[in-house]
This record gives sequence, C-alpha cells and structure tokens, in this order.
Amino acid sequence: MKITGAVLEEIGRPRPFSESRPITISELELGEPGPTEILVRLEAAGICHSDLSVVDGNRVRPVPILLGHEAAGRVVEVGSEVNDLRPGQRVVMSFLPRCEECDNCAEDGRLPCSAGSKTNSEGVLLHGSTHLNRDGESVFHHLGVSGFATHAVVDRASAVPVGDDVPPDIAAVLGCAVLTGGGAVLNAARPKPQDSIMIVGLGGVGMAALITAISQNVSRIVAVDTLEEKLEHARRLGAHETYTPQQVLEQGVKAKYVIECAGNPRAFETAFAATAVGGTTITAGLPSPDARAQIPPMTVTAEARTIIGSYLGSAVPSRDIPKYAQLWREGKLPVEELITTRIGLADINQAMDQLADGKAVRQVIMFNSDHEHSS
Ligand SMILES: [Zn+2]
Ligand SMILES: [Zn+2]
Repeated sequence: MKITGAVLEEIGRPRPFSESRPITISELELGEPGPTEILVRLEAAGICHSDLSVVDGNRVRPVPILLGHEAAGRVVEVGSEVNDLRPGQRVVMSFLPRCEECDNCAEDGRLPCSAGSKTNSEGVLLHGSTHLNRDGESVFHHLGVSGFATHAVVDRASAVPVGDDVPPDIAAVLGCAVLTGGGAVLNAARPKPQDSIMIVGLGGVGMAALITAISQNVSRIVAVDTLEEKLEHARRLGAHETYTPQQVLEQGVKAKYVIECAGNPRAFETAFAATAVGGTTITAGLPSPDARAQIPPMTVTAEARTIIGSYLGSAVPSRDIPKYAQLWREGKLPVEELITTRIGLADINQAMDQLADGKAVRQVIMFNSDHEHSS
C-alpha cells in the first residue's frame, strides 16, 4: 500500500535542520505483513532523542531510513500466525522487539534481546528484511517501528495492546519515554519510600523518571537540569529539590539513587559525583559511542558503590506498559505533562531543532487531525 512517511536521507547535515532539511516527507510503498507481523495505522508518534541521534550521526544507522520509534496506532491487519491481536485494537509500539528465545530475553528485561538488537542495527524488522520501498529503492526501518508514517508494518513482538481509554498521544509516550525513564526507577533503582532519588537531565525520559518516582512516594526526589524552565516544570510536578549540575557539584548534593537521563558524559560524571556512599548510579542515556567520562574507580570500591546500565528501562514491555497505563488511569502518572507540543508530520525538521536545543520535553506528531498539513 501507499503510505506517507518522514525519511532521513543523509546523516550529519548541519544545523539548523529547518534549513538543511535532512528529513523529507515521502510517498513510499509498504509491503504486506508477514506471518508474525501486523499492519498498524499510526495515530500519534513522539519525537525522541534516539531519532535525533540518527539525524546527527551519534547513532549510525543505514539510510535512507524512515524514522520514529515512540508511537501508537490501531491494528489494521494481522499476519497468519498472530492470534492474540485483532483489527481495531490500539497498540503501543515498543522499540526493541523481544524474540523470547535468546539468552538475553530469559533475563527478565535486564538485557536487550540479542536478535532484536541485531535487526534494529541493520534497520530491518525482527523476522525479515525491510518492507519499505521508494521508487524501487529499499528504505530502512527505525528500531523495528518507523512510526513517523501514516501506516507501519511491525513484528507482533514490537506491539503491546493498550485500552481504548488511553489516548493515542499518551499511549505513544508510554512506549519509549515512560518505559525507559519509568523502568530506570522501577526496574533498575527500585527505591523504597524512605529513600532519596535524583534525576539528572529532564528531557522526556528524565521527566518520565521523575513522575514515576513521585508515583512511588519516594520521600526525597531531586531533579537536575541546566535549564531553569525545566527545573520549574519539575517543581510543579512535585520534585522536592531542584538544582543545576553546577549547583549539585558545588553544594555536594547527594542521593542514594541517581539516574542519568541526559545521554551526555558530563551528566554521567555529575550523576556519579552525586551518588551517596553505598548508593547506585543508574545510566539510562545514550551518548555517542565515542564519548568518554571520567570517574575515580577508587570511589566505587571505597564507597561500595554500584553502577547500573539500564537500556529500555530494563523493561519487559508487555508486562510494564500495562502497568504504566494503569498508573496513568489512576491519576498517579501524569504522562500528559511530558507532552509540550502536538505537531504535524511536515514540522519534523523544525521539531528536531527544538529537541537539539533542549527546548522540548516531548513533541508528538498527531496523525489524522488538523495537524497533519500544518506548515
Ligand atoms: Zn526513544
Ligand atoms: Zn531475544
């Protein structure tokens, strides 16, 4: 079928992207779902740092690639071997499919699926090649999803059903920001109510970690960012203390659990410095593979410290996404607070500039609405 999607043509074009326009809105041919796959009509898709990292070359992926991995939509058609989803159901996309057969998948979400990681880096779906074609040329899939499009074919393992009562923009954000940030708190840090927790970097993932910590009634919650407006937002959401990274270092602010959500080696150093004796530093951000951080190894030993890497919130999406949806339903997880702007697909290059400037928490592309043809 014919679809419209946002295709990254080339990696590393200069800023501003609104002028260099690395992403074009193209008409593509989308193949039929295979036996283990489903066809989804997209309703909403969030713009995440992992999309920007492909645009600016921090995460190298094959191009041309149809971006977008934080998305939600309705099932249109299911493959012959898919018997637990039906057309019309709303699904949240998950950006790392789990094969449920490899050694890593046996580790309860702690380790990324080795099959899914491989196909994600190759830009293909879990059980096959690409289903995207433009004028006879293959176009790659982003993280098994390619959600910046009117429709997508994804593996069954890349979709988690969610109730109709969860609106599409909320559902989309559950799939990456909430799963990653929330999981860094619930699956990796696992704080008790009497503990202290610090979140370093208040983008979508960091804000999601923050509201998750608040939902768990952790008694001392500290939020850290370089931008005052984000600290103000964090205080409004319920952070008990807020600081810039410089203030954290100068004043020696510490917490038992410190989660780095900025994907920046300096943020990791700040998070490590702010971790109390016997405490745990959790890193959820994804810096460039060449980035290096400096930490004193002596401190890890002498202060009996722990460092945890948390990819995808150490999550099992089919187990965790319904959990976050339920917290949202109960009014305990205000996911709508993470959404700063709703935009159209055509606004994608400007949206990447906004994200690169750190100005947006979550910008969400809305499909089948007035937004679709704006600017
Ligand atoms: Zn993401
Ligand atoms: Zn696996």
